[in-house]
Amino acid sequence: MKILVAVKRVVDHAVRVRVRPDGSGVETENVRMSMNPFDKNAVEAAVQLGEAGHADEIVVVSIGPRQSNDVILTALAMGAHRGILIEADGRVETLAVAKLLRAVVDEEKPDLVLLGKQAVDDDSNQVGQMLAGLLDWPQATFASEIKVVGGGLEVTREVDYGRATIGVALPAIVTADLRLNTPRNAALPMVMKARSKPLAVRPVAEFGIDVAPRLKVEKVSPPAERPGGRKLGSVDELAAAIKSELSELEAL
Ligand code: AMP
Repeated sequence: MKILVAVKRVVDHAVRVRVRPDGSGVETENVRMSMNPFDKNAVEAAVQLGEAGHADEIVVVSIGPRQSNDVILTALAMGAHRGILIEADGRVETLAVAKLLRAVVDEEKPDLVLLGKQAVDDDSNQVGQMLAGLLDWPQATFASEIKVVGGGLEVTREVDYGRATIGVALPAIVTADLRLNTPRNAALPMVMKARSKPLAVRPVAEFGIDVAPRLKVEKVSPPAERPGGRKLGSVDELAAAIKSELSELEAL
């Protein structure tokens, strides 16, 4: 089968994000960026399907500024075969991302599209579901296990009440959860090899899709500071502290 994987460049999950002083968003200048963590699970799943003989071509696609090349190169180093960068500056909202991905699906005709369950920058959790809707394909979101069974997939999903296993006919959309696998760190030779793999850079305008934002960000503000902790000397002191906090709450 042919697999398309969507990968987004986001602020590295280990970076403590800072809100811009003017409240217009999160600071991304001079901040370490990397592949959205769930997208790494999606790439790893694709590569493992390839290693198991179920996938013969893995194409990765990213929508974003020119620097998003980096996350495509990471995916190519992990084992993907080919990359597509849809170059777009500024914020591209989830519906526009889903429409662009649909255009790539129409061109590439993959049997499976793998995405992360959500991008950790805006926590939307929408693109996979929207893409499934636009294509009218079945979707299996929050996947923690993917098995190829007959001509389709058996996907185990992480849900509130536990784990649900569903059968999905191909072509399908699957979004990856963290427990799906442990993404590999590409060895240096693979990183070097990635640079010689095909990577097409295409301006967003080429797709003729309206990517103008529908939403206006009014204001972004950091979470309220948490009061510092304190160390208590004994269980009795702890009990007394809890009692006094509770009576303060009751008095409110
Ligand atoms: P979201 O719905 O924005 O939380 O994103 C869900 C998933 O859609 C991500 O984990 C990516 O796999 C994919 N995705 C979102 N934005 C982009 C983008 N700009 N480029 C490529 N893939 C994206």
